[in-house]
Amino acid sequence: MIDVAYGNRRPGVSSALNFDPATVRLAQNFTLLEFIRSGAASRHQIDNRIPIDCRPGQPFRNLLTLAETVLQPLRDEFGTVIITSGYRCKALNLMIGGAVNSQHQFGQAADIQVPGVSPYGVATWIEANLTFDQLILEFQEWVHVSIAATPRLEVLTAFRAAASRKAIYTPSLHLADSLPLELKVNHEPTS
Ligand SMILES: [Zn+2]
Repeated sequence: MIDVAYGNRRPGVSSALNFDPATVRLAQNFTLLEFIRSGAASRHQIDNRIPIDCRPGQPFRNLLTLAETVLQPLRDEFGTVIITSGYRCKALNLMIGGAVNSQHQFGQAADIQVPGVSPYGVATWIEANLTFDQLILEFQEWVHVSIAATPRLEVLTAFRAAASRKAIYTPSLHLADSLPLELKVNHEPTS
């Protein structure tokens, strides 16, 4: 196990990719594999790996911060946390239709689910307890949470428009399966 989170943080530990991401620990209960694995990437032969590079601004460094400041506290509170989408290389983000400036591309965002806890419940806890850049309750199905050097603490709920199925984002968290009409405000989220 390469214990990055508690071990050597010298810049540029390794730029090679010939290591097993399952053996690289980002926080006490999270490995790099959990942040880079992707069914879509596997199916389309997209290489979604990243080097172990702890320099500021590098995806790996951002994932370390994301794991330590968001994922591990969630794990400590709720037990199991499933990362359904973590880091996305540009090709993967394009392929799955992610936002052009998606923070997933920089290792700054994760989509998560907690077994046995509603996404609304998870998002509510994050809002009350953690520092984040953007927190989005997506379609009552999963939670998108991101970090940034200057956190915006922006909180949104995403709904699907009834006709077009287009995503519509409204401020704050809403436990509803339809869009509250009075809150039809469009944002440009980076989910
Ligand atoms: Zn996301």
